[in-house]
Amino acid sequence: MSDRRLPKEIELSIDRSLAKPTRIHKVATPSASQLWIKREDELSSGISGGKVRKYASLIPYLKQNGIDLVGMIGGPNSNNLVGLAQLLKENQISPFAFVREAAAPNIHGNALLLAMLLSEEERMLIPRDKWDAVEKIASEVLQQRESRGQHTHLLREGCFGVPALLGSLTLAEDILRNESELGRAFDRIYIDCGTGLSAIGLVLGLQMLLGEAAIEREIVITLIAETEARFLEKLNSIKMQLHALYPIAAYKQANLRFLKPVLSPRFGSVNKSLFQSCCNVARESGMLMDPTYSAKHFATALQDQASAKAPLLSLFVFNGSALGLMGFQDQIARSSMEGI
Ligand SMILES: *Cc1c(COP(=O)(O)O)cnc(C)c1O
Repeated sequence: MSDRRLPKEIELSIDRSLAKPTRIHKVATPSASQLWIKREDELSSGISGGKVRKYASLIPYLKQNGIDLVGMIGGPNSNNLVGLAQLLKENQISPFAFVREAAAPNIHGNALLLAMLLSEEERMLIPRDKWDAVEKIASEVLQQRESRGQHTHLLREGCFGVPALLGSLTLAEDILRNESELGRAFDRIYIDCGTGLSAIGLVLGLQMLLGEAAIEREIVITLIAETEARFLEKLNSIKMQLHALYPIAAYKQANLRFLKPVLSPRFGSVNKSLFQSCCNVARESGMLMDPTYSAKHFATALQDQASAKAPLLSLFVFNGSALGLMGFQDQIARSSMEGI
């Protein structure tokens, strides 16, 4: 189990001061004896964990291409908009956010952070009935800016695309480093899926670094916001794009399994059991998990791990950020006072 590194061509596209190593430790939950956790949440204090890996290649890409205005698309509670706005500003690239109008006016959680980060001139609210046309509306706005001499770039929701994928490949590399320090390989890795880019980065990264041996690790994907069919379609399409640019490895079959969240499965939905689960995880394991992704993912992985016939050494990728709790303070306060 020697350390394996990504090919040089890809390495050159990644800012390593962003895609840093993260630690792993055993999960303290008594029922999860063979479960380890990868603290991707520790990559940043203000950006949701795995997103930092995407930005580690996306920001250099934007700079190399002389982009000075970036269009970004997302819902009012998007972790991606909040994270990207921070790093774009830090790098003196102007963000312009196309934000889906909220069902109810709200100025808490990520919507509040976004309002802090972006001025009125840096965002446009898109009415819910126009949301299907958001990419078209966004391209038109950016086109106008181009005609005024700005260099613009429009990112798809969640930054889906090869420029952000390259940074996501570093997760696989860092897991192999963790394994090498631990002296054992994981049988199984649990990861969550929004647009799927982080999970796709893990799958392709392991294939790139391990070749055929990648199949020895089962990757279990909690489908927070995607279907299995859509995920596989996206995996295939981005694999072909990556292969055309970097014909490095012959990507082999991966060992994938998909799970639906066991708590409040519809994306963005929340309920009492979910908030209670957030409180339980905090009390049992000392981890502050956001309800939208991480707490659903964790409950799902724990249940799956408990049903394994043989004990398997597993790794749970904690992609989240405690900041994700901000939008739900009232509900969580109620849950924690109900004497759980
Ligand atoms: C964005 C996000 C994800 C999903 O990432 P994708 O690459 O879009 O699948 C998962 N967990 C958390 C906490 C996130 O913020």
